[in-house]
Amino acid sequence: MAKFPIPIQKLIMQLRKLPGVGAKTAERYAFELLSWNQEATDALSSSLKSIHVEISPCPECGCLKSDLSCEFCDPSKRDPTALCIVSSAKDIYPIEETRIFRGIYHVLGGMLSPLHGYNTDKFDIGKIKTRIQLLGVKDVVLALDSTLEGDATSLFLKEEIQGCGVNISRLAFGIPLGSSLDYVDPGTLTRAFLGRHIF
Ligand SMILES: [Zn+2]
Repeated sequence: MAKFPIPIQKLIMQLRKLPGVGAKTAERYAFELLSWNQEATDALSSSLKSIHVEISPCPECGCLKSDLSCEFCDPSKRDPTALCIVSSAKDIYPIEETRIFRGIYHVLGGMLSPLHGYNTDKFDIGKIKTRIQLLGVKDVVLALDSTLEGDATSLFLKEEIQGCGVNISRLAFGIPLGSSLDYVDPGTLTRAFLGRHIF
C-alpha cells in the first residue's frame, strides 16, 4: 500500500496534535493546505512563527500581551480594587466581551484536578496575595469553570485568600454545571457576573 509522501505524513502528525483533530481530519487538512498557493501557506507559517515571538504573558497578571505594556494592568483603564481570577488567559476574552467587568485579572495557568491528585504548588499564591495587598484589592471574583476542577480550585483559593480581608465571590449562577467558560454565551456570563454569590 502506497503511503503519503514523507512531508505530508509529517504535516498530518503535526495537525493531529490539535484538539478534536483525528487521523482522517488531519489528512483532509493536509491535502487542503497542499492545494493552497505558496503565498497562502507562507502567511500561515509566518503567523505560527510569530505567536511565540510577538505574544507573551504579562509577568504581572499572566494575560497575553503583544507589546511592551499590558492593557489589563493599565491603572488608567482598569479598576485595581476588583481582581478576577481565571484559569487560562483565553478565559479573559469572553469576560471582556460582556463589558461587565472593568477590574484586573490574574491567570492561574491551570486548575486542581481531583482525578490527578492535588498539586497546589503550581499556583503562585504568594504572588496573588502580594498583588491583593499592593493594589488594594477589595473584591476577588473567582471565574472558574463550573466543573469538579473549578470547584476544587475555587475552594482552595478561598481558603488561601480569605485571610487577606477581601470579599470573595464565585461565578456559578447561570453557568450550567459542568460547563467551561469557553462555551458560555455572553448573556449567560453577564448574568453569572451580576448574580455571583459570596463564596
Ligand atoms: Zn498584566
